[in-house]
Amino acid sequence: MIISTLLPSLASLLLGSWLAVATTPQPRPAKTTAAWMTHKVERGETAEAIASRWGVSLEDLEAWNPWLARDKGAVRPGRVLQLRASKRPSLRMRAKYYTARDDTWASVAARLGTTVTVLKAGPNREHASQPLRAGLSLIVLRDASKTGWDPYANRRGDAPPQLDIEFGGLSDGRPNGGKLVNGVQLPDTDLYDLWKPEQCYGSTHAVQTVVAAIGSFREETGWEGRLTIGSMSREGGGHFPPHKSHRSGRDVDIRLPRLDGSGTHPRHDEVDWHATWALISSFIATDETEVIFLSRRLHPLLRRAGQDMGATPAELAAIGTVVVHSKGHHAHMHVRLRCGLDETDCRGVSTRRKRGIKVSRRTPMSRVR
Ligand SMILES: [Zn+2]
Repeated sequence: MIISTLLPSLASLLLGSWLAVATTPQPRPAKTTAAWMTHKVERGETAEAIASRWGVSLEDLEAWNPWLARDKGAVRPGRVLQLRASKRPSLRMRAKYYTARDDTWASVAARLGTTVTVLKAGPNREHASQPLRAGLSLIVLRDASKTGWDPYANRRGDAPPQLDIEFGGLSDGRPNGGKLVNGVQLPDTDLYDLWKPEQCYGSTHAVQTVVAAIGSFREETGWEGRLTIGSMSREGGGHFPPHKSHRSGRDVDIRLPRLDGSGTHPRHDEVDWHATWALISSFIATDETEVIFLSRRLHPLLRRAGQDMGATPAELAAIGTVVVHSKGHHAHMHVRLRCGLDETDCRGVSTRRKRGIKVSRRTPMSRVR
């Protein structure tokens, strides 16, 4: 699903070439190397926006898709348009834009290479009747081939709250075989929401790290949405279906931050990838993160966001070493924290033994989830 909306699907490529051979293209002969291609309508797109994105005229688009000329309202998400073009437009990515002083609808649209009409559509509709003012957050669609977009560069959030976290919670054994001694519950705070508090127990070390990482993410980005924590471990750890791991109090599932700030499960185009990169960076910066599981098909989006925000090649190298593929992690990330220094029975990469950003070799990643 994800690949097919990001890239031309094989089916549409095949369909495109089949049409080129099997039908006599009636409307306007091809100019240069144009070929038949398909465009799947995305949310918020109008016929005008599609035409301008592909560099064709609206008249041509309507001639190629007669149903469009009959009913403009038929441009609905998921419908497929046929068109002739010499190349596909570059990929795009949804992102946050926080308005600054002097921004106008026209200046922001120009910066994004779009029109005011498109910018005001969809999620930004609630602001559309007003002149643009500073301090609003817009959801914009931008050309993913261009870098240099850091929505959080000049933002700052509140300093994290001081929370008392109980001592004595210890991870015992391995994440997919061990248990949790004196489990400590994630504290009740505005930093995150707990989906099921009774499933959010961890070791003292792991709970401290989660609170610290999310606290610094909030402070450094000023990200104000809801962040939902799925599960950590049960109070005493141990077998925790449907998870294979989550047994020793140092695994935590966090839903990916959404552009709309609601804490529900996002589709890939609803994720705030820049916030996701910032959150992952905060976890890595604690030096206490062993590994983060995230489906491989999402790695390019994460990498793009990191590049946008000026990440160095060394920082980006975390994608593939710390951030690794594991099936099923496409709406949440699974963070595994290291063993704390005091956790002598914890099996895994401890703070003491860590070297650089290596992950444990003892357990094959494919078997740990
Ligand atoms: Zn998990």
